[in-house]
Amino acid sequence: MTPAHGSGVSVEGGVDLDTPIARAARAAMTVREPESGDWPRPSRCRVMSVANQKGGVGKTTTTVNIAASLAMHGNRVVVVDLDPQGNASTALGADRTEGVRSIYHCLVEGEDLIKVAHPVADIPNLWCVPATIDLAGAEIELVSLVARESRLKRALGAYDTSEIDYILIDCPPSLGLLTVNAMVAAEEVLIPIQCEYYALEGLGQLLRNVELVRTHLNPGLAISTILLTMYDGRTRLASQVADEVREHFGELVLDTVVPRSVRVSEAPSYGQSVMTYDPGSTGAVAYMEAAREMAVAGAAQ
Ligand code: ADP
Ligand code: MG
Repeated sequence: MTPAHGSGVSVEGGVDLDTPIARAARAAMTVREPESGDWPRPSRCRVMSVANQKGGVGKTTTTVNIAASLAMHGNRVVVVDLDPQGNASTALGADRTEGVRSIYHCLVEGEDLIKVAHPVADIPNLWCVPATIDLAGAEIELVSLVARESRLKRALGAYDTSEIDYILIDCPPSLGLLTVNAMVAAEEVLIPIQCEYYALEGLGQLLRNVELVRTHLNPGLAISTILLTMYDGRTRLASQVADEVREHFGELVLDTVVPRSVRVSEAPSYGQSVMTYDPGSTGAVAYMEAAREMAVAGAAQ
């Protein structure tokens, strides 16, 4: 990690540096820094579920911006939107009007994933498998289907991933069948944790679920990555939560912490990741750095 892009990037001295001048300065630094070009690619496709049954902790934001960062540095990335809300699809500018062929059709009708993976505008190497409102019923429809827990795994298995580096699955805020499908299909779980008071509440349940899936359905599953999100350096609470998470999860926690940044929350309404919407913003720089940590860790595996 370079000093210019260290963790807690926006919160030096407890001040939010998300101002136009600070952004311009950071963008200039990014340009000057000898970008060593592309990041390493993993030796085989990494399938990661981005999960936390709490809503609003940054799952979708993390999925979209990590995916965009990896793709912008030479990795080939597919985002699978597994949340009926379809926020990842929206943020990546994917068509999610009713009737569009989507992840629902892969899960329920056995449609080929490749047929519903659409290239994301302005970001080469990035594809999105959208979710539409159809997916809202899938949680119930899946119950009566054969191999209901492994429908997504089957869909991914039929997909030639030899040229794909990452598949990031954006999970819904529940531990229902959709999330179980994600965990059965993945080898890694990425858990975003919001740096606020109730952050750790419910985490035990998530960990137990991962353990259950590992024992009964997918022995290859592991929590590989924890990312602290929406960090507000002005509060002691945020740093206390961060400390507690690091104490508990140790090395799994990325050094980079994603600060609260208005630009991050604005980007989706423009159908963009913050990486293209405002690449010099504190949020974009932090997500870029977090993605680089993941790429380096993945290459070392
Ligand atoms: P989840 O997918 O877990 O429900 P989201 O990624 O949708 O969570 O984030 C919840 C809300 O918080 C969204 O409105 C999003 O724009 C906002 N948000 C996420 N990360 C940040 C951040 N670093 N700074 C500011 N707002 C954020
Ligand atoms: Mg979401």
